[in-house]
Amino acid sequence: MKLYFAAVALCLTGVKGFSGFGTRMLTPSGISSRGKTFGMAPRHIVRTPLSPPRQTFTSLSASVAKLSEPQGQLLSTVDVFIFDCDGVIWRGDSLIDGIPETLEKLRSAGKKCFFVTNNSTKSRAGYKKKFDSLGLDVAAEEIFSSSFAAAAYLEQSKFLEKKAGKKVYVIGEVGICDELDLIGVPYIGGPADEGKQPEMVSGAKVDHDEDVGAVIVGFDRHINYYKIQYAQLCINENEDCEFIATNLDAVTHLTDAQEWAGNGSMVGAIKGCTGQEPNLVGKPSPLMIDYIAEKEGLDRARICMVGDRLDTDILFGKNNGLKTCLVLSGVTTEEKLLGPENDVAPDFYADSIADFFVKETA
Ligand SMILES: [Mg+2]
Repeated sequence: MKLYFAAVALCLTGVKGFSGFGTRMLTPSGISSRGKTFGMAPRHIVRTPLSPPRQTFTSLSASVAKLSEPQGQLLSTVDVFIFDCDGVIWRGDSLIDGIPETLEKLRSAGKKCFFVTNNSTKSRAGYKKKFDSLGLDVAAEEIFSSSFAAAAYLEQSKFLEKKAGKKVYVIGEVGICDELDLIGVPYIGGPADEGKQPEMVSGAKVDHDEDVGAVIVGFDRHINYYKIQYAQLCINENEDCEFIATNLDAVTHLTDAQEWAGNGSMVGAIKGCTGQEPNLVGKPSPLMIDYIAEKEGLDRARICMVGDRLDTDILFGKNNGLKTCLVLSGVTTEEKLLGPENDVAPDFYADSIADFFVKETA
């Protein structure tokens, strides 16, 4: 862990606007927490002779290749695949077709696989159980959740040493709490504040703990006004209280029937009452990819980020020097990818990761 984070500072020198931990990272909108607005991420238009002809779309349609010859386009140049989970491996609690076979083939071909999720509701151990329940043989060490990233960030920034006696206030579910337990950081809030309502009579107020030195905001299906008020008081009134966001996803997959409001809505509530921008630890912040690349001693040029979102997964890959592949099995449609509003171009796109191997014909 320590070795990784020491190296992270070096790795991050290429990330515009980043100046080390303890400094807020760029958001997908390109706005830093210091209030300075940086330019959008540069376009990375890929031109490849393997791009199939297109007629129905504009903008990137001539420059983004649909995966058609996976061995030559992808497998021969990639040693490590980093998969987003929601919309790539599963949708809600439903496994996407062909995933177990594809992962098995990738491993048989000597490829390393990691699984990165912005969802903070589970710890790494919690995600391991989900993989197990879906019949996928994945080690806990191959899983990187934003709940783990939040704890790793506190560990790197030496929260326990630099803020002795301080604790964390959690807006979020059990995943964040479990990860904080593993590194011994005390916390309050989280599921314990579920259902609480502040009294609204004359003279009533919420008393907050002045020893809260950081507020972590992750996805919370039980967020309420009490939690928002508590977080507001900690950030606005406690000296040097950090505001940490596990992720800024606008929408998420809770079920496979529709999109649901994501953690961006919870973070937005706290931004709205504090005027502060959070330290972002999930995608597209570089923290998790730096951890993986450093820990495994990997060549970034031979790592491919595979995801279903342009503004987090693909941007995350591009900002970190990885190859990128968008899959259409999640939130992004081909129309959106190739339409005039989009300027984030993956190296390749495919219907799903099952297309990483040419289907055998009978
Ligand atoms: Mg996803």
